[in-house]
Amino acid sequence: MKDDRCIFCKIAAGEIPSATLYEDTDFRVVLDLNPASKGHALIIPKEHYRNLYDLDDALAAKALVLAKKMICKLKDVLGCDGYNIVQNNEEAAGQSVFHFHMHMIPRYQGDTVGLGWHMGTLTEEDKKELLEKIR
Ligand code: AMP
Ligand code: ZN
Repeated sequence: MKDDRCIFCKIAAGEIPSATLYEDTDFRVVLDLNPASKGHALIIPKEHYRNLYDLDDALAAKALVLAKKMICKLKDVLGCDGYNIVQNNEEAAGQSVFHFHMHMIPRYQGDTVGLGWHMGTLTEEDKKELLEKIR
């Protein structure tokens, strides 16, 4: 399924030009227009899914295998020191384009890429509540 109003549907279909690193029948991998670091790329499925909540299971599995393949190759090409795989779901989590995608962000020792969070402490109350609810 495609969404006529979705920019990533158009990029994935090749209707909007992009810096494509890789393409197969399911995905297009492109350089991000606003990279967090040199080599920041996106894995974009050709079919439209809003985010991971409704992504097809088989495609979800293929996306991670493709991420592995891409970063193993790109780390040698870029000479980076590490990689973050980031995938945002919904606005509260930073999603701005509502077509599933995975960020592959190369990391360079000492870079200023601002990913992270302040580490809290797991409380007994939260632990008990969540373990009860998830079972
Ligand atoms: P997110 O905030 O997780 O939804 O990520 C959306 C990403 O898409 C951002 O990193 C943008 O820089 C990137 N982006 C938006 N439009 C384009 C485009 N036309 N080509 C490449 N990357 C884009
Ligand atoms: Zn789309």
